[in-house]
Amino acid sequence: MKKVGVLALQGDFEAHQKALDRAGAEAVEVRTAAELEGVDGLVIPGGESTTMLKLLREEKLFEPLRQFGERRPIFGTCAGTILLATEVSHPKQESLGLMDISVERNGYGRQLDSHVAVGCPEDEFLRRTGDGDLEMVFIRAPVICRAGGDVKVLVEHRGAAVLVEQGRHLAATFHPELSADERVHRLFLAKL
Ligand code: GLN
Repeated sequence: MKKVGVLALQGDFEAHQKALDRAGAEAVEVRTAAELEGVDGLVIPGGESTTMLKLLREEKLFEPLRQFGERRPIFGTCAGTILLATEVSHPKQESLGLMDISVERNGYGRQLDSHVAVGCPEDEFLRRTGDGDLEMVFIRAPVICRAGGDVKVLVEHRGAAVLVEQGRHLAATFHPELSADERVHRLFLAKL
């Protein structure tokens, strides 16, 4: 069984652990560089990216995490996606730069601040995970406003990419851990 770490400094890491369990992986909490060494891949959950960044600095985890991402798969959701990006705006913020995407924080504006949508993923997603529409829970979500040439869009919503893949990494602007559908987590597990 694959061992997946969930960065547990802040945010909704427990929901990810449960989703990983349901998808058939062993999920463990990661708070130190030593714990990071013992896992096959890592989930960076949603939460508050500025706080997460501050804690990563305080725990001296920022650089180990960046290096981990050069060797192993990372799945970022919402705040996790903000941390994986190369460029963050609104406001500008430091990031790991592991995926060639630009994100605008809280990019849906006040009216769409938090919402649940049901959409049809791209054929590639369906081929790899199985048919059916996907429920997507957005909570003060970032918008992916640019995706580089090596970035594959797996799900689009309201004209913007909301689930993207680049090599070993996967990033969602929504929260798949809050829906009963495990396909997004299974897609990540298949990359380990
Ligand atoms: N708006 C948050 C941020 O900028 C992300 C929200 C989330 O992860 N649900 O960090």
